[in-house]
Amino acid sequence: MNVARILIIEDEASMLTGLVDSFTMSGYEVITATDGRSGLELACLTKLNLIILDIMLPKLDGFSLCERLRMEKIDVPIIMLTAKGREEDKVQGLELGADDYVTKPFSIRELLARVKAVLRRSRRETEEIETYSFADVIIDFKAHCVTKGGETVNLAPLEFEVLRLLIKHKGETLSRERFLTEVWGYDRFPSTRTVDTHILNLRRKLEDNPNNTRYIKTVHGVGYRFDENPSTD
Ligand code: CA
Repeated sequence: MNVARILIIEDEASMLTGLVDSFTMSGYEVITATDGRSGLELACLTKLNLIILDIMLPKLDGFSLCERLRMEKIDVPIIMLTAKGREEDKVQGLELGADDYVTKPFSIRELLARVKAVLRRSRRETEEIETYSFADVIIDFKAHCVTKGGETVNLAPLEFEVLRLLIKHKGETLSRERFLTEVWGYDRFPSTRTVDTHILNLRRKLEDNPNNTRYIKTVHGVGYRFDENPSTD
């Protein structure tokens, strides 16, 4: 696995030294900047996995830096260092596109844990499939659009997510509970019949013959499975 490269932008010398030591010891590759402008330059020119960004910085503050990066479509994850008791800083940081924050003074263990979590999340996102096609159906997961035989198919948002889950785990039988957990989430409790309804709609919209489905298969007593290469019977 590649070593993650982290840019730390912090103007306080002792804080910076402490961070560099801790992250280097934890196996990260670390580069640093001590003011906002050079930090922005480094962030634009270097391939990074994550940025740790102080808010109060000379030349360009952390908020403006974060905003500029997102405007340039540089979507490297950012963890902001906010001052204790400045609740509004957290909100502003997250609104400007930061991924997480820690409050000063923080424990280095907490920061390391958050870095790990954010890196894990961003890795998973880049591994997501972008497009997929079967028969005459083309799915663009990024644009959220589906066509069949060149015609746009209108899918409800949850139908789209059910389809995404089926294709992500193609060839694997998924239980109705699995759909409920991953698509509807823990905080809502629709019945498993809801899953059946969404599957039915997907078949009606995407399969050539909804009464004799080839791709979206029922596995009796278990759930559903997407067959990538259905037999031609
Ligand atoms: Ca500072």
